[in-house]
Amino acid sequence: MRYRYVDGGGEIGVIASVTQPFCGDCTRLRLSPEGAIYTCLFGSEGSDLRGPMRSGASDEDLAALIAGAWRVRSDRYSEIRTSMTGPRDKVEMYHIGG
Ligand code: SF4
Repeated sequence: MRYRYVDGGGEIGVIASVTQPFCGDCTRLRLSPEGAIYTCLFGSEGSDLRGPMRSGASDEDLAALIAGAWRVRSDRYSEIRTSMTGPRDKVEMYHIGG
């Protein structure tokens, strides 16, 4: 939601991911320092790219790996977080650039 100042001096944007989750439209792919991609900021497991890169994977191979990981993603953390009451194993945001 965007709000603009009446005087035209700027605007403020609010991403209300708790009250208006948008996991289905999310594009937040993150790369960890170890070369794993995470398809959700609250993901618990990444997909390894470092191994294939060190084994000589081509750009096309890596693109296919990334597309494949994205195609099967089912992340819905913001949509279901209120039903998740216990502690959760997840990647820390400082690790993937929150
Ligand atoms: S909870 Fe995960 S899938 Fe949902 S919006 Fe946030 S990063 Fe995207």
